[in-house]
Amino acid sequence: MITDQQARAIAYLLHEIRPDWPVASLMSLIDKHRDVPSLGALTIAATTKAMESTCQTPGPIFHPGPHWPEAARSHLPRPPSCEDHIGQESTSCRSCWADFKAGDRPQTHIGKHYEAPATAGASDIEGEQR
Ligand SMILES: [Zn+2]
Repeated sequence: MITDQQARAIAYLLHEIRPDWPVASLMSLIDKHRDVPSLGALTIAATTKAMESTCQTPGPIFHPGPHWPEAARSHLPRPPSCEDHIGQESTSCRSCWADFKAGDRPQTHIGKHYEAPATAGASDIEGEQR
């Protein structure tokens, strides 16, 4: 279990490595994942991800993967399923990311239920009628 003080320490450390990752959002992210195997494992996983230039947001820190020390990997809690796509994990749902890249889903709704505004798609229907 990660304490407040430990969460703050990691958030500030990550922010030093990645100034584009705000401390406040790091804190709320860590807060949601306090059941990580240990502070040491989290520090290794988090700093490894922070040093990956391809890693745009801190979210993937908590995804399972080789950035976690091997002994910690089997103790990682599994993320909940995507609300919109059965069989996909909410933190890494490929269908949601595809929607996001296509502009059909805001990034805030990766892994969460999202309904496109009712007006979207109306022009397609009109086009078919012509
Ligand atoms: Zn999804």
